[in-house]
Amino acid sequence: MTGERIDGKAIAADLRAKIAIEAKTLIQEHSLIPGIAVVIVGEDPASKVYVASKGKSAKECNFHSIEHSLPEETSEADVLALIESLNNDDSIHGILVQLPLPRHIDESKVLNLIRPEKDVDGFHPINVGLLAAGERDKALVPCTPAGCLILAQRVLGDLRGKRALVIGRSNIVGKPMAALLLSAHCTVTIAHRHTQDLPSLVKDADIVVAAVGIPQMVQGDWIKKGACVIDVGINRIDAPERGEGKTRLVGDVDYDAAAERAAFITPVPGGVGPMTIALLMANTLTAARRSAGLDDLDFAALLADV
Ligand code: NDP
Repeated sequence: MTGERIDGKAIAADLRAKIAIEAKTLIQEHSLIPGIAVVIVGEDPASKVYVASKGKSAKECNFHSIEHSLPEETSEADVLALIESLNNDDSIHGILVQLPLPRHIDESKVLNLIRPEKDVDGFHPINVGLLAAGERDKALVPCTPAGCLILAQRVLGDLRGKRALVIGRSNIVGKPMAALLLSAHCTVTIAHRHTQDLPSLVKDADIVVAAVGIPQMVQGDWIKKGACVIDVGINRIDAPERGEGKTRLVGDVDYDAAAERAAFITPVPGGVGPMTIALLMANTLTAARRSAGLDDLDFAALLADV
C-alpha cells in the first residue's frame, strides 16, 4: 500500500479562491471589505517572508490589507498603542502580530490586548477558552490546527469515533488540535515528552497529527495500516546528497516509510504549511462576517463544493 499524498498546496489554493469569491459577495451585498492588519517588529528575515506571503494571500482574497513594519527598537508602549488603534479601526477585522517579538516586548501583553473578535491567530485567552469549552462556533481558532482538521476531514469525511493521536501539546498547535479533534467527536490522546511507549499509541491511531519539531521522529512501522497522517513539523536537515552545505525540509514523520502503511499522508513541504495562511484568510473572513452579524461559513463544505 502506498498512501495518497494529501496535496495541501492545491487544497489551500482552492480554499483561497473560494474565500476570494465569498469576499467579493460580501463587498457587493454588504459593502463590507474584509480587512487584515499584520504587525511586524524587527528585521527577522524569516518573519519578513511570512508577512509578505500573508499580504499576498490577503490581496488574492480581495481583502483590504495593511502592514505595519516597525523597527526593532520600537517600545512596548508604541506597539500596544498601535494595537489599540487597530482595535478601534472599523476597516480592520483581523489583527496579526508576527512572532517572535523582540525581547524587550512582552508578547502576552501584546497578544492579550488584541480584541478577541479580531484575534485571527486565535491565541487570545478568550478564544482559547471558548475552544476548550466546546464553543468553537464563537471562537477564532488557531490557523495551523484548523488547517489540519480540514485536511483530515477532506480525506476521511466524518471523523466521528476515530482514534486520534496528537503528538505535541504546544498552545499553538498540539492543544488546539486536540480540542478540534474532540469537537469533531474523535477519541483523542495527546502525547508529549513524558509519554511512555509512543510507538504503541501511534499503532492504535486512525489519525496521527505530529507536531513535535524533531526530524522524522515518527517511524513508518509505527503507523497503523490505513491511518491518516498529518505532519505539522518543519525541520531543516543537512542534505549532502544535494551538494556540499545543502539542506532540505523534512517533517516529524519518516514520510517514505509511513506512506507504505498510511492511507493518507501530508508531505513536507506542501502539506500543512500552505493551509496555515489559507486559514488565516478564512479567520479574517469569519471575523468580518461576524462584525456584520452574518453566519460563519463552513470552509470544509465550501471546499467540497466543486
Ligand atoms: P513546540 O516546541 O512548542 O512543541 C513541541 C511539542 O513536542 C511539545 O509539546 C513537546 O512536549 C513535544 N515533544 C518534544 N519531544 C517529544 C518526544 N520525544 N515525544 C513526544 N513529544 C515530544 O513546537 P510547536 O508546536 O510550535 O511546533 C511543532 C512543529 O510544527 C515544529 O517543527 C514547527 O516548526 C512546526 N510548525 C509548523 C507550522 C505550519 O504551518 N506547518 C506552524 C507551527 C509549527 P513537552 O510539552 O513535554 O515539552
